[in-house]
Amino acid sequence: MNVLFVASECTPIVKVGGLADVVGSLPLALKSKGIDIKVIIPMYQPVREKYSRDAEYYSSGNISFKDRPEKYNIYVGTLFDGIEVYYVENESYISDGGIYPGFGEPSSQSKTDEIDRFVFFSRAVVDFMAHVGEKWRPDVIHAHDWHTGLIPYLAKKNIAENIATIFTIHNLANQGISKLDIINALGAGRHLRDMNIQWDARDGNLDLLLQGILGADVITTVSPRYAEEITTEEFGEGLEHVLFDYRGKLYGILNGIDYDYWDPSNDEFLVERFSMEEGISELLQGKLRNKEALYGELNHNGEASKPLVGVVSRLTSQKGFDLISQVVTNFIDQASFNMVVLGTGDDSIEQDFLQLHKNTDMITFVNAFDEGLAHRIYAASDIFLIPSRFEPCGLTQMISMRYGGIPVVRGVGGLFDTVQNGYNGFVFERYDGEVLWNTLMKSIETYEDRAQWEAMLSNVKTIRFDWNKSADQYISLYKKIADV
Ligand code: ADP
Repeated sequence: MNVLFVASECTPIVKVGGLADVVGSLPLALKSKGIDIKVIIPMYQPVREKYSRDAEYYSSGNISFKDRPEKYNIYVGTLFDGIEVYYVENESYISDGGIYPGFGEPSSQSKTDEIDRFVFFSRAVVDFMAHVGEKWRPDVIHAHDWHTGLIPYLAKKNIAENIATIFTIHNLANQGISKLDIINALGAGRHLRDMNIQWDARDGNLDLLLQGILGADVITTVSPRYAEEITTEEFGEGLEHVLFDYRGKLYGILNGIDYDYWDPSNDEFLVERFSMEEGISELLQGKLRNKEALYGELNHNGEASKPLVGVVSRLTSQKGFDLISQVVTNFIDQASFNMVVLGTGDDSIEQDFLQLHKNTDMITFVNAFDEGLAHRIYAASDIFLIPSRFEPCGLTQMISMRYGGIPVVRGVGGLFDTVQNGYNGFVFERYDGEVLWNTLMKSIETYEDRAQWEAMLSNVKTIRFDWNKSADQYISLYKKIADV
């Protein structure tokens, strides 16, 4: 069976968050189970600079967009293990700058409106697939997140009524709300007659994520718990009624991580590698060496014998770090742990961490996006903090466990599905700074009780959050909807 992934990010080519990790690792698991999988992503300017030498020209096409003919070029390169990745290049909408507005260096940012960019991308992908001929046709198009929300609709209109489409919601908080003139950009007449477009347009805009939900044969989201949560007002971001009505075609499939890429015994970013297959004392030794190395790298003045609390995260209100402001003084006065925070995001949260960085030696804040440092923080941290307000799946709890860390999480979404209080982590419910603090203190006390800590580490060592089971679940959905 042929499956095409369509997405705005893909590790290792272009990454902002977990979406990239999923799009760059699930294909490997699908391929190992016999799926002929390819991935297609935009050729943003930084991607072109870095990867065009490894990619070959494949074909070109022309589409009408905003009443003007627009040419796009397709290049093909290799992801891993012979999996092909197509890049879509276009000077006006895609290849004129970096990925999302506001992400990355200002000088490299695209001036293109991001709705225009991703609707153009979706239209070009569908046009490419309509003209690809017999070379390689997808049986299933698997579209990811709002950037590709129009793909199911456009595929059915432009390729074939019976092409199967699956749409995965990675984060309901970003929906791609567009002015209605985007319909004109696509050529108004025939689209305005579509029932789903008409219904969506009644409130004066088009919601691209909603289009994905309405148009796809099946919808998935990235954990079973989040699949339930998004049918409720608290987590539904205004789409809870639609999602409730469509719950018959909504599936929650837990994300996995790539166990070869995230492997403390073979991680190119680590100097002090250690194995999760050996005994607990080797694991603790490995952690200690990584803490010392990290403190040296960051000029952090802390004792490696104390627990290290790690954070690697976007610093937005989704991730719950606004709770820190409620308990800042607790953090300033504490002497029982060290903390290293890596992240970028909302000004107010960055300011809280900058203040802590200035006011206490125990906390170091690195205000950056840095893949290598992220790996070294996972390797060094004993405890990993994820206090999310909501969390579709969350990968960092899985990665931290893969590196022998114990997560402290709020019990929502995928965090609820992967962390069991007192077994492989610490879970709190109420969204409150004091509750967070008390749970963190509980984890510190447990760390100090060697026998209890070792028991939890033994549990963590036996858990696997790889793609095996989830890839099977995706394949059974592909089989359910495809005509093969
Ligand atoms: P989300 O996609 O909501 O940001 P996830 O937990 O699903 O959250 O995935 C986050 C991914 O992004 C992980 O691979 C994590 O290591 C990475 N990441 C987040 N912030 C940074 C950062 N500042 N530097 C490097 N990697 C980061």
